[in-house]
Amino acid sequence: MNKDTLKVIEIYQSIQGESSLTGVPCTFVRLAGCPLRCKWCDTVYSFEGGSIITLAEIVAQVQALSPRTVELTGGEPLAQTQTNQLAEMFVAEGFKVMIETSGSEPIEFLPKETHIVMDVKCPGSGMSSKNKLGNLQHLKSTDDLKFVVASKDDFDWSCKFVQEHHLEDKVNLLASPAFGHVDPKDLVTWILSAPVTFRLNLQIHKYIWGPRVKGV
Ligand code: SF4
Repeated sequence: MNKDTLKVIEIYQSIQGESSLTGVPCTFVRLAGCPLRCKWCDTVYSFEGGSIITLAEIVAQVQALSPRTVELTGGEPLAQTQTNQLAEMFVAEGFKVMIETSGSEPIEFLPKETHIVMDVKCPGSGMSSKNKLGNLQHLKSTDDLKFVVASKDDFDWSCKFVQEHHLEDKVNLLASPAFGHVDPKDLVTWILSAPVTFRLNLQIHKYIWGPRVKGV
């Protein structure tokens, strides 16, 4: 693989299934590979394989689809360093560019125009030691910080994390139920009595098309 290519699992058009832009038409570029192994991961099919495609061809494929919003996702899109360059190319073409990242890779090399959706890995994921805390200082007020909670303990941990890092009013705070592990009704109850303000972040594509469908 050379510096002008990326390993891609799929490119498809849908709506934003989660994030603060839920429901907005979007083209997704799912990149291959992830160094993490979250216990509740729903995209294990992105860990291996994929097609090697030039950055220019990726842009051309996305341009052939109509939405002007593109999301680079994975796997972990920033595990391939050329992703920063791809983001710059999309920005130059006038796209709104979103990046869905685990928070375990540096985000400071992304163009400032990108909308970053960054996870903070809770203990229930088994990956909380991978959180790159230095990323927090690079988030913009328009970016999203997402906590996928697999239990009440994870939710309480998330509240404490927000307080300890003084994140309220600095970034959009999203709380998502780990699908199949937490009932969204319970998460709503927790949010309503939380010491910090989270926005409920359901993965609506799973409610529309079911939890196991790819490419939506
Ligand atoms: S970071 Fe994302 S893709 Fe990687 S293991 Fe965790 S949930 Fe799966």
